[in-house]
Amino acid sequence: MSKKLLLKDAHIEGIRYFDVYRKQGGYDAVEKALKMTPDAITEEVKISGLRGRGGAGFPTGMKWSFLAKPEGVARYLVVNADESEPGTFKDRYLMEFLPHLLIEGMIISSFALGANTAYIYIRGEYSWIPDILEEAIEEAKKAGFLGKNILGTGYDLEIYVQLGAGAYICGEETALLESLEGKRGNPRLKPPFPAVKGLWECPTVVNNVETIAAVVPIINISGAEYAKIGVGRSTGTKLISACGNINKPGVYEIDMTISVEEFIYSDEYCGGIPNGKKLKACIPGGSSVPIVPANLLLKTINGEPRIMNYESLADGGFATGTMMGSGGFIVLDEDQSVVKHTLTLSHFYMHESCGQCTPCREGTGWMWRILTKIANGTGTMADIDLLWDVQRKIEGNTICPLGDAAAWPVAAAIRHFRDEFEWYIDNPESQTRNYGLANYA
Ligand code: NAD
Ligand code: SF4
Repeated sequence: MSKKLLLKDAHIEGIRYFDVYRKQGGYDAVEKALKMTPDAITEEVKISGLRGRGGAGFPTGMKWSFLAKPEGVARYLVVNADESEPGTFKDRYLMEFLPHLLIEGMIISSFALGANTAYIYIRGEYSWIPDILEEAIEEAKKAGFLGKNILGTGYDLEIYVQLGAGAYICGEETALLESLEGKRGNPRLKPPFPAVKGLWECPTVVNNVETIAAVVPIINISGAEYAKIGVGRSTGTKLISACGNINKPGVYEIDMTISVEEFIYSDEYCGGIPNGKKLKACIPGGSSVPIVPANLLLKTINGEPRIMNYESLADGGFATGTMMGSGGFIVLDEDQSVVKHTLTLSHFYMHESCGQCTPCREGTGWMWRILTKIANGTGTMADIDLLWDVQRKIEGNTICPLGDAAAWPVAAAIRHFRDEFEWYIDNPESQTRNYGLANYA
């Protein structure tokens, strides 16, 4: 059984409220951290090996230590709660059921970074969650953990919650900052990274909800103890939101040593595939990471069990290299169509492209049109090569990762399931002619 750090108290009735949370040891980590120096907290986070849980897996302590500290200039912590990656719903769970865990992590992190103002930028579709967070913020303030002179230490912190307007691109950190500043959410060119020039051109750390929540157990048990959980550079625990063709969809906390097979088939997690169907493929880290066929998913190319962690999932054995990503684990059984699934995703990325870069703006539309043709049964073999060509021209040629995220699923689908694309072309009479256009035009 995986060790629980973030969700250990999630089952307790009323844990959403300050008094219940406090009774379980909540805010003890704040009391401990405020007696430490900011540098000592950053050092603990570095030692823990915690990596960004939003998807990129960048080392959190390193990101914090990159924060510029010019005299007299404000610094900010911004929590990225714009969780919009298809298949990803772990941060929603944390904010809805454990809002104080996030707030506690924010107080410790803000103190470490020298920030007196912090924001939670939350996706527009999570419209009921700001009220939960605001209530928790008020409770924490009343108890002296937020506001002026926290616990008599002289440290001040205000937390504000900002609801987005429903654009996926605002989860990209620089688009998020633009949106927070009241502008259209267009990604900025990096560098400069937000750690140097972020919100209102001030040094800013942008971290995912789960990353900030993980700071609480790190302070409670120490960075060194946290680093003992997991394996290699995949330390600590990770939340996985599992969905698709599984018996038990939900949010699971895993220590990153369990095998993919155990995660899919054991009753502790996904509970297997309904009706005894066979596993066809999986997207292990949210829709932006490449799809993996069952044979490569369960075993490495050396025949060893594939493990649910950053290194094993990104193993070079995958032709296009998949990733742990955001932990949005989408399972497809033998009845699912990879072509149609890829078509759905391509529509999503076309719709969500901000339109700044030509390869992304035009390429996502072309990929959708070609995929629609193939799925409708009017495609040709040359369309598969054209689709391959279009995705290659997007990858690496755009301002932000949305372009890559749109290209990779298409590349992986062709690479691993080319025969299925060919079947659609060879069997036009089997296709629903208006698929795609009817749904999306
Ligand atoms: P990234 O690799 O560009 O950056 C990771 C983080 O490290 C950023 O915060 C960046 O500012 C920081 N960083 C990197 N180099 C730095 C440096 N030299 N100095 C200072 N800071 C530095 O990736 P990203 O754009 O943050 O994230 C992409 C990932 O987001 C994708 O892989 C995808 O999995 C994920 N994603 C998640 C969701 C979701 O809903 N959770 C949605 C879309 C995409
Ligand atoms: Fe916008 Fe796409 Fe360019 Fe990102 S890659 S900046 S979403 S056009």
